[in-house]
Amino acid sequence: MLPPFTNEPIVLFTEPEQKLAMEQALQQVEREFGREYPLVVGGEHLLTADKFNSINPSRTSEVVGVFSKGDAETARKALAAATKAFDKWRWTPPEERARYLLKAAAVMRRRRYELAAWMVVEEGKNWIEAYADVAEAIDFCEFYAREMMRLGEPQPLTPYPGEENNLYYIPLGVGVVIPPWNFPCAILVGMTTAALVAGNTVVLKPASASPAIAYKFFEILEEIDLPPGVVNFLPGSGGVIGDLLVSHPKTRFIAFTGSQEVGLRINRLAAKAKKSQLWIKRVIAEMGGKDFIIVDGSADLDAAAHGIMTSAFGFQGQKCSACSRAIVTDDVYDTVLEKVVALTKEKVTVGDPRDFSNFMGPVIDAAAETKILEYIEIGKKEGRLVLGGDKRSAEGYFINPTIVADVAPTARLAQEEIFGPVLAFIRARDFNDAVKISNNTVFGLTGAVYSSNRAHLERARRECHVGNLYFNRKCTAALVGVHPFGGFNMSGTDSKAGGRDYLLLFTQAKVVSEAL
Ligand code: NAP
Repeated sequence: MLPPFTNEPIVLFTEPEQKLAMEQALQQVEREFGREYPLVVGGEHLLTADKFNSINPSRTSEVVGVFSKGDAETARKALAAATKAFDKWRWTPPEERARYLLKAAAVMRRRRYELAAWMVVEEGKNWIEAYADVAEAIDFCEFYAREMMRLGEPQPLTPYPGEENNLYYIPLGVGVVIPPWNFPCAILVGMTTAALVAGNTVVLKPASASPAIAYKFFEILEEIDLPPGVVNFLPGSGGVIGDLLVSHPKTRFIAFTGSQEVGLRINRLAAKAKKSQLWIKRVIAEMGGKDFIIVDGSADLDAAAHGIMTSAFGFQGQKCSACSRAIVTDDVYDTVLEKVVALTKEKVTVGDPRDFSNFMGPVIDAAAETKILEYIEIGKKEGRLVLGGDKRSAEGYFINPTIVADVAPTARLAQEEIFGPVLAFIRARDFNDAVKISNNTVFGLTGAVYSSNRAHLERARRECHVGNLYFNRKCTAALVGVHPFGGFNMSGTDSKAGGRDYLLLFTQAKVVSEAL
């Protein structure tokens, strides 16, 4: 009998042994720099002639790993291997499938510092963010294992005289799992394990900026003896092999997390049925956000400033849930702005996150850096630059935390996802105006409200149209099981990862009725 699910504890590196464990893990990971990694198709390790490097965004001369690149031929092979493996895996009992996840969680727990260290060097995450990413991945395994056991039990149906009725949650088939680079352990592990524990087989195409941590998870799947072909590891450019994987007639579903642009493309392509295709493809697509924190005059302004600062600049603002709009009522606007600027100056140190004292590391790559700096230039015209606004150093993609004040709600800085350390301050006339402004983008992912006015909070509860709304706390850091996560509108299909409804997306319900 399994104990009930609880979240994996987060380490804040307050104890010397925790710091030592991380330092040793970083040294171990650095010794592995430059190693070559294969594609894995049907259990077979394949090295291709065409390769790409994973680079440390803090020090771009460091090659974290060298990866074989999937192409059309290997993509077709991976789909064929997953199709073959599905024939057997689909009949593996739910409890047995769940046990693989529990075992994977146990291995990840043992290797948690090492996995976190990979994200420090491959992603530029600081230690706490990297550790939290691993803890979330462990949570997904533990949570979905229990969920599959629950769905594998007899399901409640209304009794009917003269019949025995049963409902079974059966798998869909072969899925293509396409995660983003920003939670390269948690989201990748969450989408992959949900798919496989539900009885599906998978072609996993990791993001090109984070293949090393993806491979480390794949290594764990091999270590726990997951049958070959249940998960196939296929790094490679999404732009090159993505369309083929999504459009292939054998693909039954696509689990995607990433940008709005790619998510909509996948949705469009998946909707076109090929001649030999037997099903309507299912698309689970979680996409971007333009998340907000509202502050009114009744709020604890210090707490609000702290929430805005950590939500805006944690992991360099590269979270789908990051606060990119501070919407503050006129009566306290200047005070809150001043507090956030002061706090950011004091707390947000920028530099190589291998050094524990740095709060913010680099942004992910050169393209992200260019895009963010372009938005900052737009921001300088659309508002008043009050902090940052420039690049930190010659080497590494470091951008200073940037705050632009007096941004109009309709300005590009207030409407478009930047995905970097850029925060727009927007002045609202009053709370009504603040709620209206919060809802005026195409997105609907996360938001927070700082207020001690009960009527305001209840109004926000009803009217702020986001998938995850928080009161008097930051708008990031959703926990598995506690805050099922997913957004409305152009933020995605509201799949609510880490919640009780999530695995249903990876199954279909079959009802069998027998006359007695
Ligand atoms: P992205 O550029 O859309 O890439 C996401 C994944 O899609 C990558 O694996 C990418 O591969 C792949 N891809 C690219 N083009 C493709 C195509 N034509 N067909 C199929 N796959 C393709 O997004 P990202 O920059 O990695 O991630 C940041 C975005 O993710 C932000 O918008 C953020 O808000 C969003 N996000 C949302 C959530 C959520 O839960 N709502 C969570 C995290 C992140 P390559 O790397 O090879 O290009």
